[in-house]
Amino acid sequence: MSSSEFVDGLFGLEGHVGIVTGASRGLGKSIASRLVNAGAKVYNLDVILPDEKVENVVDIQVDLTDRLKTKEVIDQISSTEGQLDFLVNNAGITYKSRAEDFPIDRYRKIQDINLETVFELSRMCFPYLKKSEYIGRIISISSMAAHMGFTQVVPYCITKAGVTGLTRGLAEEWKHDNIRVNSVAPGWVLTKLNAELFDKDPSRKEAAASKITLGEFGTPDDIGNMVLFLLGNASSYLTGQDFAVDGGALTHGF
Ligand code: NAD
Repeated sequence: MSSSEFVDGLFGLEGHVGIVTGASRGLGKSIASRLVNAGAKVYNLDVILPDEKVENVVDIQVDLTDRLKTKEVIDQISSTEGQLDFLVNNAGITYKSRAEDFPIDRYRKIQDINLETVFELSRMCFPYLKKSEYIGRIISISSMAAHMGFTQVVPYCITKAGVTGLTRGLAEEWKHDNIRVNSVAPGWVLTKLNAELFDKDPSRKEAAASKITLGEFGTPDDIGNMVLFLLGNASSYLTGQDFAVDGGALTHGF
């Protein structure tokens, strides 16, 4: 066996078909691009269309909080492709306000997209993933905020801690259904999501940088690389785990 065949056998995704949510920009875009480069066919389900198309990614405009429409789209993808091998729950939102002032409708919207949607999409994909000729995979994007306290984004922290609970629960629930369930916890990666928070409060950006062991912000591709690893054969013994990709931020001492 050549070394490239060996590497392909561990990390290649030729023949795999799956969904990445929120892949029109930011981390999702990079995740989708990594997966197509490894041979997968990727459907991007996002409420906005990308400014510039990633080659071989099929973009479908859908608001994931519209459950009926989302289910229709997932059923259609699975019937067109005759298979569905992975779901990457990446779409997420945040909003900055002190807890005592947090508008409750904003709180509910964050809960809906960051947590309930992850549960609902996982359930919608379940019947297809369990029939995957590979191992069916669910990867959800959690956050450092699942593990550490952050001011002014408490509802976001709640949802991301929820994603790790959901990941462990589903990993157990579906362990005999040919499905592995894991999550990835990015550290600080500069995207539109946190650019808005940092723009409003530059001292927050400085404080964040000072908490990263490696001393610099991550890139979307750092997250894409971890998702790629978690979808390939090399990770077949991993389930129920949350993997930090954060330049050492979670374990930062001094
Ligand atoms: P982003 O705002 O750049 O991208 C999020 C994408 O989700 C957008 O394309 C948006 O249109 C889509 N989306 C939002 N609501 C949707 C809905 N109702 N239906 C369909 N699509 C919807 O954000 P990002 O930084 O790329 O974040 C991606 C994920 O990574 C999120 O879950 C976020 O919480 C998580 N995360 C990001 C960071 C970071 O530093 N950027 C750190 C930790 C976790």
